Amino acid sequence: MKQGKLLYAGKAKSVYRTDTKDTLIVEFRDDITAFDGGKKDTLKNKGSYNAGVSAFFFEYLEKHGVKTHYLQMLDNHRMAVRTLSMIPLEVIVRNVAAGSIVRNYPFKEGIKLDPPVIVIDFKDDSRHDPMLNDDLIVALKLATSQELQKIKKISLEINRLLSAHLAKQGILLVDFKIEFGRQGKTIRLGDEISMDSMRLWDKLTKESLDKDVYRFNKGDVMATYNRVARRIMTGIARPAATKKKPVAAQRKGAGSPDRAVIPKTKKR
Ligand code: C5P
Repeated sequence: MKQGKLLYAGKAKSVYRTDTKDTLIVEFRDDITAFDGGKKDTLKNKGSYNAGVSAFFFEYLEKHGVKTHYLQMLDNHRMAVRTLSMIPLEVIVRNVAAGSIVRNYPFKEGIKLDPPVIVIDFKDDSRHDPMLNDDLIVALKLATSQELQKIKKISLEINRLLSAHLAKQGILLVDFKIEFGRQGKTIRLGDEISMDSMRLWDKLTKESLDKDVYRFNKGDVMATYNRVARRIMTGIARPAATKKKPVAAQRKGAGSPDRAVIPKTKKR
């Protein structure tokens, strides 16, 4: 597959046309940003970790019946995906109160949200991604109410599947953001599922294992991404992890260690 013209460059990913019908290439760059682009850096290999973890989760979700845009990894930071017509919604699923929900509402950080709370923001940088409600989404014609119900149902199923996998690795899925697009009438999960888009805590220590390490200068970002990517993708983890073979080891695929998606880094 030949990479064509740049279609779109976001804060951390670029999307390219290809010579293959209905197929795009997503490049996970080494750029990292926070606070609406107010904090920016380039961290070597960061793109590969996020690409590897995203591919792993897309394959895992597909295996469990969730339709995604994922096709295959091309190298350790480029992914071939189905062309979708993206819906400009940021669907955030929260299992534990943290981040903006604690800043904006009287929730105590760390309390369990059961049932999980779904918050949907309008993906519009110029408006700083304001929160929407169902009526606004329909009135703005961003999605029909049937589509919205479907998006919420798929989001909760994704939450169930991701939480279950991460729990086996001793990781608590605090919250995450996902985006969807249309392929004809089919709604598919697009974008990424990575340490940039999830909030992950070590179950025992409550240590941050995600972009909060970068946002709040909590430590070595790349050492954290390296460790958490390995925990997620290979199950090399903690004694608490299940004895069952991890998903990645059960089959060959982009998310499996056989394809060396995890870049080699110096030992620290
Ligand atoms: O900042 P906030 O607490 O609302 O973020 C909730 C979750 O959504 C976090 O996991 C965060 O990383 C993710 N998020 C994201 N992209 C955004 C906003 C939030 O990936 N634009």
